[in-house]
Amino acid sequence: HQWELERKKLKRLRDTRATTLDEVEVKLQANIELPDDISGARENGAMGIGLFRTEFLFLNRDNLPGEDEQFEAYRQVVRDMDGLPVTIRTYDLGADKQINGAVSTGTNPALGLRAIRLSLSEPQMFLAQLRAMLRASHYGKLGILIPMLMSMPEISQALNYVALAKKSLEDRFIPFDRTVQVGGMIEIPAAALAINSFIDKLDFLSIGTNDLIQYTLAIDRTDDTVSHLYDPLHPAVLTLVSHVIKACNKAGKPIALCGEMAGDVQLTRLLLGFGLRQLSMHPARLLEVKQRVLTSKVRDIVPQVGKMLRTGDPEKLRMMLARLND
Ligand code: PEP
Ligand code: MG
Repeated sequence: HQWELERKKLKRLRDTRATTLDEVEVKLQANIELPDDISGARENGAMGIGLFRTEFLFLNRDNLPGEDEQFEAYRQVVRDMDGLPVTIRTYDLGADKQINGAVSTGTNPALGLRAIRLSLSEPQMFLAQLRAMLRASHYGKLGILIPMLMSMPEISQALNYVALAKKSLEDRFIPFDRTVQVGGMIEIPAAALAINSFIDKLDFLSIGTNDLIQYTLAIDRTDDTVSHLYDPLHPAVLTLVSHVIKACNKAGKPIALCGEMAGDVQLTRLLLGFGLRQLSMHPARLLEVKQRVLTSKVRDIVPQVGKMLRTGDPEKLRMMLARLND
């Protein structure tokens, strides 16, 4: 009964703007895996889709979705979001998400041909997806997000393929949004550390903390025997996340966070204190996080978060986090 009451109270926040007590605007968006997930996102008041994991269109089937099928799916999402921004990620296949019939190579699939690495090795498949996304961009506000970027040459290659996809549509007089934004996910520690070397190439960035934690702490996120070591509060993780947010804010590049950390209400104030203003999460987490935003004051949080970044003592850090959430 208590839980029901809480749910009802939260539901009333659906159309409330996510603004802190000191008037800082926060954009709360939803992560989706398939077009049908949009209803959950809308019911929970998402201000857009911050991450559409398109690889789910490719899984558990014996053929690949062609350009037209993908175009229909992306257009449906963009249309259903009614002018709100939709960030569609190019497929993050490989590692634990294999197409039927494909076998992972190497002894460490998470370090292998995955995400943008796979896309760059399969240009026809990548180009078909980019064309489908660009065609859908004509019907709403669509951004293209590239997963697992690591270095400048990779970004340049990815952007070349976007340019090629645009050219092939232009040649056939197929309309698309010429101002479509292309962003990159920061999921590899090297990319987080070297962000200033390629930040200019991207229109926006999004931190994928699920993988960033996996690669920073050398913990396979699919291996239960080490899941107890998976720690979003490890000082190295916090330092990297804070560094990326600061670099983006300084360069004037929109920065979001779309890993599970975004939906953890215990971390909302910490992330606001880092300067983050855009979070994308599972739709079921949106209202609780919004409630936390509404009861937060950024001015009071910032000095406390500065101290948290400087402490290396996990016990102390947890105490400081509890105080931050009081
Ligand atoms: C992430 O790594 O944090 C992320 C959002 O991507 P995925 O969980 O799909 O790897
Ligand atoms: Mg990831």
